[in-house]
This record gives sequence, structure tokens and C-alpha cells, in this order.
Amino acid sequence: MKCPFCDSDQLIVTNSRPTNNEMEIWRRRKCLHCGGLLTTHEKIDLSFITVIKRSGKRVKYNRAKLYSSIYHVVSATKKIDRGTAGDISEKLMEKAEKEIINLKIRELSSETIFLIVSEILKSSYPDSFLRYVAYFSKSIIPKDLLLSGF
Ligand SMILES: [Zn+2]
Repeated sequence: MKCPFCDSDQLIVTNSRPTNNEMEIWRRRKCLHCGGLLTTHEKIDLSFITVIKRSGKRVKYNRAKLYSSIYHVVSATKKIDRGTAGDISEKLMEKAEKEIINLKIRELSSETIFLIVSEILKSSYPDSFLRYVAYFSKSIIPKDLLLSGF
């Protein structure tokens, strides 16, 4: 990492702490050359995870895709305005990612992601949960699982 002020690579970390469900590390860095201060946010990269789709196709885990699927149902919920929906979706996504990490596996099915997100929405945003199930159930989860109420 280089100092944005003077291009020096002599940066030291002066402070750091976890934020947002411990999914992100906030670091304060100082440039030893010019004294400039900057803040960085480090997030865990989940791109090592492979998602197996229902068709059997394997794709790299895509954070943006997960975010947009959550945002889609949260922003459609009447009680939540669009600005707040972004914040809420971000937090829900981090919660889901934390659970994905806790599984300690390198491969998971899109169905598993669907179930994780469903469980999270179910307890805190029941309206969004219903939308999520209605919207994604057809393409992602098999009918017998859906009927069982998982
Ligand atoms: Zn500098």
C-alpha cells in the first residue's frame, strides 16, 4: 500500500478495530514519510468459495449478487425506505456471509445460501422473507423442500 499524499510505501498501522459483525477491519494508518493519515477497511474475500447452482453449474461466490438479491426484497418492503434498505441489506448480507464462513467449506449450493438468507430474514424482516421465498423459490429450491417449510 502506498501513501496517497506522497507515494511513499512506509505506512504504519496506528490503530485498528473490527466493525460490522467483525466482518470488516478498520485500520488507521500513518505515513512515516509525510505524516499523512488514512483509514482503510479490510473485508474478508470470499471469492475462494464456489457456488453450485441448481443446474450443476459452478460459479465463483459473488457478493454483489447476494447483496442485490437481498436488496431486491428489502427495498420492496413498504415499511422500509430506499436509503435505509441499503444499510439494512448490507448488514443482512454480512450476517449471511459470516454464516457462510462458519460453515468452513469451499463449495456450497445456491440452495444453502438461499436457506441461510431465508433464516436471517425470517426472524427480523418477515415481510421481506415472504418476498424472498416467493421470488427465489422457483429458481433455486426444489419443490419438496419448499413444501416441507424447511
Ligand atoms: Zn506520505
